[in-house]
Amino acid sequence: MHSKFTIHWFRSDLRLADNPSFSYACKNADIIPVYIFDETNKAHFPLGEASLTWLWNSLILLNNSLSDKLLIFKGNPMEILLTLAMENNVTGVFWNRCYTPWQVSQDTTIKQKIRSKKIECKTFNGSLLWEPWEVLKADGTPYKVFTPYYRRGCLGTKLPRTPLTTPKKISFAENIILKQPQLPKTFNQLKWQSKILRHALIGEKNAEKKLKTFLDSGIFSYKKGRDFPSSGDVSKLAPNLHFGEISPNQICSKVKNMPSSENTDNFMSELAWREFSYYLLYHFPKITKQNLRSQFDRFPWICNPKDLNAWKLGKTGIPMVDAGMRELWETGSMHNRLRMIVGSFLVKNLLIDWRSGARWFWDCLFDADLASNTAGWQWIAGSGADAAPYYRIFNPVLQGKRFDPEGKYIKKYIPELRKLDLKYLFAPWEAPPSILNKAGVIMGKTYPYPIVNLSTSRKTALEAFKVLKNNASN
Ligand SMILES: Cc1cc2nc3c(=O)[nH]c(=O)nc-3n(C[C@H](O)[C@H](O)[C@H](O)COP(=O)(O)OP(=O)(O)OC[C@H]3O[C@@H](n4cnc5c(N)ncnc54)[C@H](O)[C@@H]3O)c2cc1C
Repeated sequence: MHSKFTIHWFRSDLRLADNPSFSYACKNADIIPVYIFDETNKAHFPLGEASLTWLWNSLILLNNSLSDKLLIFKGNPMEILLTLAMENNVTGVFWNRCYTPWQVSQDTTIKQKIRSKKIECKTFNGSLLWEPWEVLKADGTPYKVFTPYYRRGCLGTKLPRTPLTTPKKISFAENIILKQPQLPKTFNQLKWQSKILRHALIGEKNAEKKLKTFLDSGIFSYKKGRDFPSSGDVSKLAPNLHFGEISPNQICSKVKNMPSSENTDNFMSELAWREFSYYLLYHFPKITKQNLRSQFDRFPWICNPKDLNAWKLGKTGIPMVDAGMRELWETGSMHNRLRMIVGSFLVKNLLIDWRSGARWFWDCLFDADLASNTAGWQWIAGSGADAAPYYRIFNPVLQGKRFDPEGKYIKKYIPELRKLDLKYLFAPWEAPPSILNKAGVIMGKTYPYPIVNLSTSRKTALEAFKVLKNNASN
């Protein structure tokens, strides 16, 4: 029991170990741990269904680790934190920084307000290896291309800090005066949410276990294996990282202790892609809604709700695309290779605006992350920093043959094609009637015809992109 009360405001840091703000708040003080569903965020990007599911389950686990002391509120963070601090004579309010544009400005305002009441207020880096403002070009401007950002920028600056352990003694504030109602610590799952939850390993302990499993096996074949959706050679840590159940520091320090290899190097550079996404979001906050390359503002996107819906449902008639979209719907996740394939198909074969794809991902992905999702979609569209060149259009048939050579992934998510000869699995519309018959496939009935011709739509896209490029250089 201490005479001092402090508040730690949990946000994207739902863990106790390597949590700099939480550790600081626990020093010589009784802590009030708080989580707030930010109602002021409604105008920006309200949480998607899958994120909400993960978040609630994660909060319940965090609350268990905090001996049922976590206070959960809904409302305006500034009002809630200030009232709680003033009513309880709190001496310090602390949190780990977030990097979305409105959170950055909201944090500044809250910090000023709290300090104006003579209460200590400090923020920390709890979710990135490198702060976005620490890595700049020699002329002081931000990098726009990944490789120099990572090689010269990140690796050329100081090493990430050593992870902190969970505070040995956590003392909780008692008899707290509460002016705002707390939210009950329960969450009623909808049917879809219960389905995807079966595939979720949520919380700090599970994140630690996942990392151990990956470092014991998957990482040794990561460089090659990460492209094959059936191989399982990836960490699946994205949602745990997004919600801060594990920090990149914790991962990085373990990987750095392993013998260096092309696999560990590759894994570190993928982690750095996450850093780069946050970096772009911080330096170019408009990218969540606008093209980073403004020439794309004139791109003739097509509004086609029917095609968009077929894409969302995994009923485009292109098996590799449909398998990816169905994985998302079944599990709340999607392998990175598939994100690129389905993204390219939507943006380049269907010519549908990347923002429609990003919105669907935002709702369905457990790891929906404004920084990584935006950067991923802009990369695919060609409108972002370091973008995939506009002429790089993934051929989903060839991608399937290359990265799902035995058809395991497609067969897992498209049961109606399970009996189809491997030769035609990636393009069933090319199969002779006798082969389809034998496999029980009736094109247009049990499995759709392709909603678009891959080769003509590719040509149309190339034309559209060429016009854009020529206009830009005129
Ligand atoms: C269109 C599109 C949308 C995407 N949306 C998201 C998103 O909302 N949230 C998200 O976390 N990732 C997103 N990604 C990146 C990537 O697909 C996922 O991070 C990855 O599939 C997660 O699987 P994993 O945890 O097994 O990754 P691993 O391969 O094990 O990589 C380890 C960690 O590195 C990070 N990482 C790896 N690749 C990338 C990448 N290309 N960009 C950013 N971070 C990366 C992730 O945090 C990941 O957990 C998107 C990619 C694309 C092409």
